Amino acid sequence: MDNMIVQWRGGGYDGCFWEPNTGVMLEDKWIPIISTGRGARDTREAFDRDFDEEADYVFELSPAGTMELQDTIRADFFVHTLLALDELEQAVAWKCEDCEKIFDADCLRESSFGSYTGDGGIGIISEDLICSECASARTCSRCDHMAGSADELTLGVCEYCVEAAKEDESNEQLVLALECVKADEDRLTRELAMYIELMPHKQESAELAAKDTQTRLADERNEILEQLLDV
Ligand SMILES: [Zn+2]
Ligand SMILES: [Zn+2]
Repeated sequence: MDNMIVQWRGGGYDGCFWEPNTGVMLEDKWIPIISTGRGARDTREAFDRDFDEEADYVFELSPAGTMELQDTIRADFFVHTLLALDELEQAVAWKCEDCEKIFDADCLRESSFGSYTGDGGIGIISEDLICSECASARTCSRCDHMAGSADELTLGVCEYCVEAAKEDESNEQLVLALECVKADEDRLTRELAMYIELMPHKQESAELAAKDTQTRLADERNEILEQLLDV
């Protein structure tokens, strides 16, 4: 049989949902990687008996093949399979779900899951395979909490830590200054919207005229935040 990666529906314990199983055919030798429950194919005999060309997913044993596998399997099962293939000295590739860059097995060891959800029971489902660079861009520099996206951080700090800094009494003046800038920004946005509603044909010039003030207020806000968050 040709070299290939096989993914099939395994698992199936009582009261538990099924889980994807994987294995690899390498130089006519069957090597199970994730082989569980009633659907297990732990031996060559079990593989020959249960292999189903229609229902199973088959991928080329190559970096291109593992990238296809990534699209059909949950991230944690994918990582487990890839690390096993790497142990077998097979070249693998995977794509960061944030930046979409392509990486090899070495980078996989430094990768992270961007999110974790419960599976309805005691298990945890890890999703969103991301590279180390994207993971650190999403991670709060104060508490190491990983946000859903880098946009959720303020100067690299998560919303909880921003709130905690605001509640610190020694930052009272900064919080007041921040509120003033925010109020100015809100007022400018409101006035601009009103003006454009009344004179739609002047939208472009009005936006251009507001730009300087917007930039100045944004800079002010950032400066205050930098002091507040001590970054
Ligand atoms: Zn990335
Ligand atoms: Zn934080």
